[in-house]
Amino acid sequence: MNAVAYIALGSNLGDRELHLLRAVSELGRLPQSRITLLSGFYDTEPVGGVVQESFLNAVLRLETGLPPQELLTELQRIETGIFRRKRELRWGPRTMDLDLLFYDDLILDDELLTLPHPRLHQRRFVLEPLAEIAPELVHPLLGKTVLSLLRVLPPGERVTRS
Ligand code: AMP
Repeated sequence: MNAVAYIALGSNLGDRELHLLRAVSELGRLPQSRITLLSGFYDTEPVGGVVQESFLNAVLRLETGLPPQELLTELQRIETGIFRRKRELRWGPRTMDLDLLFYDDLILDDELLTLPHPRLHQRRFVLEPLAEIAPELVHPLLGKTVLSLLRVLPPGERVTRS
């Protein structure tokens, strides 16, 4: 049986929209996988204190037969292989950032992969697009829906649907 994964996409270098479209297309071509929901694209202020261009962010739902570690490897292959992304400044600019937010209800904390993604509940640029496609999805560790996590988030960086 297929698992349901949610993946966050972000870009703030070059043609951000084209990069997101390309990443969506690559994710749709992953083996044993298909995209079943895609949020709009959101223009978002960068977090983390590094002065840089704003990001374009989105979230999608992927039904997949790939195990979680293999899915993460595929995300990294797209980041580095397609977008030529190098390991760079932690909160710095990037052509493409792909994060695995949820993989079913899996709770995991190993060297390479933490699930759910450890910072997703603090990030408006993730929660806004996620709430668009999965408002009632329950965070398996926090026991709260995406929409309720978004509602209690303190005001922070600007996030606008573009
Ligand atoms: P980043 O610079 O944000 O792309 O961070 C990637 C690093 O975070 C990689 O070393 C991954 O192994 C690690 N990582 C841990 N959990 C996750 C996750 N849920 N999604 C994406 N990367 C993760």
